[in-house]
Amino acid sequence: DKILEVRGLTKTYGGETKKGAKQPTPILDVLKGIDIDIYRGDVVCLIGPSGCGKSTFLRCLNRLEIPTSGSIKFEGVEVDDSHIDAVRQKMGMVFQHFNLFPHLTVKQNLELAPTLLKLKDKEAISAKADELLARVGLSDKADAYPKSLSGGQQQRIAIARALAMDPDVILFDEPTSALDPEMVGEVLELMKELAHTGITMLVVTHEMGFAREVSNRVIFIDDGKIQEDEPPQELFSNP
Ligand code: ADP
Ligand code: ADP
Repeated sequence: DKILEVRGLTKTYGGETKKGAKQPTPILDVLKGIDIDIYRGDVVCLIGPSGCGKSTFLRCLNRLEIPTSGSIKFEGVEVDDSHIDAVRQKMGMVFQHFNLFPHLTVKQNLELAPTLLKLKDKEAISAKADELLARVGLSDKADAYPKSLSGGQQQRIAIARALAMDPDVILFDEPTSALDPEMVGEVLELMKELAHTGITMLVVTHEMGFAREVSNRVIFIDDGKIQEDEPPQELFSNP
């Protein structure tokens, strides 16, 4: 069951002349034609050198970046301006820097999007938030504010917040890169548990242990293109 279909995706930055500037900004062809199919239940790790476009690729999928050309279909629906709200409801995202709402409590962070979108009634949204807090092991932090939590705890809450929407896919953009080393394990462990539930995950990461143990596909991007797309056993056994 195909969940994402990407065809001829390109992304070029630059080329616009900013107000008062004499010259346009330099042209940078970051993605030079990405074709890929992602299937339900895939756990894909995206690897490649810094600046090769991994984050840009992920952000094109949910239109945080507008592709320069190409097409993206999610569950059969074209990811364009007219469908983006529906797409984002089913496509969660976890960022490097957590991006929790600082003025809301932990539990309110989990309740905000489902409440704004009127996904369920108030009691059901609250019950779901409680269930997710238990699942990420942070029930005791429901009424705390994000800044009082450790980085690892904040990222676990960010994952719970994504899950509060019952997404079909979660995009992770270097979810452990901003963490102190002692907190990386707790976040990877939670991601591993998620992977075992069968949810589709796309993970930009430098954590090769996670890629090897948890993913079923490792995609190596370089020079704006997919260079390898293999099960981790094969990719990591190549010289
Ligand atoms: P990666 O995630 O693989 O490290 P990125 O997708 O973040 O790479 O960035 C790819 C390239 O595009 C980098 O050279 C980066 O500086 C550049 N880039 C990213 N976002 C923008 C932007 N908004 N404007 C101009 N250049 C950008
Ligand atoms: P995060 O760490 O939360 O993933 P980043 O630090 O990668 O965020 O990027 C933050 C923002 O800066 C993004 O919107 C990205 O597109 C933009 N950006 C990254 N590189 C460049 C660049 N070279 N020029 C302009 N904008 C950039």
